[in-house]
Amino acid sequence: MKGCVLKLAGPRPLAEAISSAGGVRWSELDSALMVRRLPGIFVTGEMIDWDAPTGGYLMQGCFATGTRIARSALERLPASMRT
Ligand SMILES: Cc1cc2nc3c(=O)[nH]c(=O)nc-3n(C[C@H](O)[C@H](O)[C@H](O)COP(=O)(O)OP(=O)(O)OC[C@H]3O[C@@H](n4cnc5c(N)ncnc54)[C@H](O)[C@@H]3O)c2cc1C
Repeated sequence: MKGCVLKLAGPRPLAEAISSAGGVRWSELDSALMVRRLPGIFVTGEMIDWDAPTGGYLMQGCFATGTRIARSALERLPASMRT
């Protein structure tokens, strides 16, 4: 990510700028939010290509996807390590 060069073309209106559009496409993820091409790597929140109006929807989406990947990662652990 640090090697990704971004060319800034200009500012966007606040209504758009408050949520960073872009990110990993849903089609690249399985239902556990694991990157299909990188097994064991999960993405959440604004790492995923989605956005929403403000008013709590962004944070709710981040909390929901964060909870999902935490559960997904736990499910991949051996049973002896889950407690
Ligand atoms: C000014 C502003 C106001 C907002 N108001 C609202 C609102 O009212 N309601 C709402 O729902 N949403 C609001 N949002 C959007 C919401 O805050 C974000 O969508 C949400 O916080 C994104 O969560 P995230 O976990 O995806 O990313 P982030 O909260 O950005 O978390 C990413 C974390 O990763 C860390 N990090 C980055 N690089 C590395 C690295 N190399 N190694 C380790 N850690 C790293 C960062 O320090 C950061 O803690 C607002 C956003 C802004 C900017």
